[in-house]
Amino acid sequence: VIRVSRLYKVYRVGETKVYALNGVDFEIYKGEFVAIVGTSGSGKSTLLNMLAGLEKPSKGEIEIAGRHIEKLTEKQLVTFRRQRVGFIFQAYNLLNTMNAIENVALPLSFRGISKRERMKTAQKFMELVGVGDQAKHMPNQMSGGQQQRVGIARALVVNPQIIFADEPTGNLDSRTTMEVLKLMQKIVREQNQTLVMVTHDNNLASYADRRIRIVDGKIVGIEEGGRDAVTEETGEKGEKA
Ligand code: ATP
Ligand code: MG
Repeated sequence: VIRVSRLYKVYRVGETKVYALNGVDFEIYKGEFVAIVGTSGSGKSTLLNMLAGLEKPSKGEIEIAGRHIEKLTEKQLVTFRRQRVGFIFQAYNLLNTMNAIENVALPLSFRGISKRERMKTAQKFMELVGVGDQAKHMPNQMSGGQQQRVGIARALVVNPQIIFADEPTGNLDSRTTMEVLKLMQKIVREQNQTLVMVTHDNNLASYADRRIRIVDGKIVGIEEGGRDAVTEETGEKGEKA
């Protein structure tokens, strides 16, 4: 469902050029859970932002569901994002002026459905991620883990084909991290969605079906096989990377 070839991203910082991505090739298949793993500054966010159509590559091709997204106009990209992809960010990115359910319902407002229908769907997704009783809470009245669940519900509410997650559990403790991971793995499996998760955490990455390792903007290895967060005993005793 995703094909990347000869991808480059060069940033200019004053006189110098930073090769954030330096010739990247890979494919991601439908229904896969893939982790993009690397240390800070390796180019993970740059890569994810380009896959999601938030940034333009300097060179190379990105094909998603048969469309070359590097060739789309800004307007076409907006439509592409609204229809095909969901994002989960490290810093939840909830709007503080809206309560939880309004945040979750927001992506539906571009779809020409009634408010009543939007709220009903949003409530369903909030229940799915375990915050169904907090619909009326403002983001600042919720814990980090609860806000992250709201962020996940918001990413999933339009049933996107592909979900991009950038350090989705970055601010959570290890137990909440496992719960959120389990939840994401379960949901994408059930709906046959594709999940691309960026992380620096090897333990977290070990649950992906495949790991793409990047160092200094280059792929240094791809590993197959992942652990199962859904059936695995979770809690404090899980081994640490
Ligand atoms: P982290 O784990 O810290 O989030 P990352 O792997 O996501 O790191 P990127 O944000 O993709 O790293 O950055 C890759 C490289 O590109 C870094 O050297 C960074 O300094 C550089 N970079 C990223 N964005 C810009 C920008 N807008 N302008 C200039 N350089 C940038
Ligand atoms: Mg990053």
